[in-house]
Amino acid sequence: MSVQAQFTDLQGRMRACRLCLEAGHYVVPPAVSQGRVSAQIMTIGQAPGITEVEAKRPFNAGSGTRLFEWLGQAGIDEDWFRTTQYMTAVTKCYPGRAKGGSGDRVPSRAEQALCRPFLDEEIALVDPRLVIPIGGLAIKLFFPRSKKLTEIIGTEIAWQGRWVVPLPHPSGASRWHQIAEHRPLIDKAIDAIGRHYTELKLI
Ligand code: SF4
Repeated sequence: MSVQAQFTDLQGRMRACRLCLEAGHYVVPPAVSQGRVSAQIMTIGQAPGITEVEAKRPFNAGSGTRLFEWLGQAGIDEDWFRTTQYMTAVTKCYPGRAKGGSGDRVPSRAEQALCRPFLDEEIALVDPRLVIPIGGLAIKLFFPRSKKLTEIIGTEIAWQGRWVVPLPHPSGASRWHQIAEHRPLIDKAIDAIGRHYTELKLI
């Protein structure tokens, strides 16, 4: 089977997946992802929000506006990125609102474990040169759990032959990126993404 055929098959299996529901977890399928198997850059968010499920694309609403402001500063155009690169999440289905708090529920470890094989397959098939984990949940896939976001944002690591440059979660419910002292760290991350984007000759 060609890589494209494997990718199409994977997307179909993700959208048909009901593993979390079968295990008793509250999620709203179908899985949300966007992009091409030929992508050189992959973003990994936490999980889609309800507007992402409705629009069938990741980072659709306010968090997407902020994310693409940041990527725009790195020289990356949103339409180009959405149509040629790849966007996914740690868990692919909407997890519902957080109880008593603001924003959406953080997927449980059990849900993350159920969805992890899909992420591993996506990374293996797309084989991106640059991975951008967005928000604490995705960042912890690549960086030690003991490290604070202030120690991680603005840094980059080499991982399995690719670069990993993390960004904080851009949603309005996340306060980290709204703290003025964190802005230089975000700028450093944006600079690193812009440098890798240029080096990949994606312009
Ligand atoms: S979050 Fe992942 S494992 Fe759970 S139902 Fe959706 S696609 Fe399946």
